Parts: sequence; structure tokens; C-alpha cells
Amino acid sequence: MATDSPLIIALDYPSLDAALCMADQLDPKRCRVKVGKELFTRSGPAVLEALHGRGFEVFLDLKFHDIPNTVASAVQAAAEQGVWMVNVHASGGRRMMEAAIQRLSQHGLTTHLIAVTVLTSMQADDLADVGIKSSLAEHVARLAQLAQHSGLHGVVCSAQESAQINALCGESFLKVTPGIRPSFAAANDQQRIMTPSQAMQAGSTHLVIGRPVTQATDPMAALDAIETELSIG
Ligand code: C5P
Repeated sequence: MATDSPLIIALDYPSLDAALCMADQLDPKRCRVKVGKELFTRSGPAVLEALHGRGFEVFLDLKFHDIPNTVASAVQAAAEQGVWMVNVHASGGRRMMEAAIQRLSQHGLTTHLIAVTVLTSMQADDLADVGIKSSLAEHVARLAQLAQHSGLHGVVCSAQESAQINALCGESFLKVTPGIRPSFAAANDQQRIMTPSQAMQAGSTHLVIGRPVTQATDPMAALDAIETELSIG
């Protein structure tokens, strides 16, 4: 049964066994899970099958960026494996995003397709290095609107950008935000953090949370604490 929780737990593990060991401590009725590049490259589609078999909806975070036909085929492959959400880089451009979304609709696939605007690891001088002269905020806004005009369902963004994207693209445009730290958790290597409730108030629709849950002694207790903070569950 699908969950309507905004919580997506990042399964950042180097092996299928380690990822499933964590998944088995979580409840698919109370969160979704995210599979990223390392886990997928090591374990392949087997991890998707195993998580789907346990009842989880999966965000496959592979951030595709290539020529339109290649990205459309990769997005179709992900959707045919039943993932709930998959993503591409908005900087791949309008034709790439349109090809991907059209491919999903041609095949009747309902997977959510979202775009990364600017990676939160990028700073103003990194943008200048790749020839982008606008400010970070302007570039994020441009790419979020381009993703929306190309028919995508939302973006991955920093919670600091959620309010601006909410104003530009509307509330129903998905804003999936990492860099979340509940009040009880350590910042780790995340720089610009927000608590779950601050991020939801800023307009985020989904929160990606890794270590505060996966490295907790009791992951479900950590999830409980986050739900309490959000008044859900
Ligand atoms: O452990 P933590 O909560 O920091 O994990 C956040 C997850 O979100 C990780 O999978 C990380 O790769 C991902 N992510 C991020 N910042 C981005 C994009 C993705 O932290 N800008």
C-alpha cells in the first residue's frame, strides 16, 4: 500500500545486504526510500526488486544527463522496473526533458520524473567556471521553470530554494529536498541545513533524509521523532 508520507530515506550503502538490513528496520507505510548511484551500480536492479517486494516505493536517484533518446530510454527502463520517482539534470535541456516525459506517457508509465536544478554542492564560482554568468538563485529559478515547461513533475532542490520555486512554479510542482537535519541530529557534512518542519513550511513537498535515520541506534525511533516534529503519523 502506498504511503502519503513526505519522508524519503536515503539508502546510501555499498551493498544490497547493507541496504536491505536498513530497509528491514523501516516501515514502507511510513516512508519511501532512495537508491543512489553507488548502491545501484553495485547491486543493479536486484535492489529495486527487493525493495518493491518489501512494499517500498523507490526514488531512483541516478540524475541522468545525456542525449534525449538515451535519457528517454533510461527513464523508461527505470519506470518499467516500477520505481516511484526518477530524475535527470535540468541542464540537459528542454529537448532531453521533453523526450523523457513523452516516453513515459507514450508507454502509460506513471513514474514521477523530476529534475536536479543546480547541485547544492555548486557555489557561485563553480557556475562561473562552467560559463554561467547569472547568480545561483537566478540559475536555479531558470532551470526549475524550464523543467516545468518541459512537462516534468518537480525538482530536487535545497530547502532554501523551496519558497522561491513554490512562488514561481506553484504548490503542486514537487520540491524534493535533501540537507534536512531534525533538531536531534548532527549536521555531518551538510552545510545549509533546515529542520523537517522548516523545510515543509518553506514549501518542500518531500524530504530526503539519510544519516539522521540510517545511523540512528533505532531508525524507527528517529522516524517517529521526525513525524512528531511534523505532526504526522
Ligand atoms: O545523510 P544525508 O541526510 O546527508 O543524506 C542526504 C542524501 O541526499 C544523500 O543521498 C545525498 O547524496 C543526497 N543529496 C544531498 N544533496 C544534494 C543532492 C542529494 O545531500 N544536493
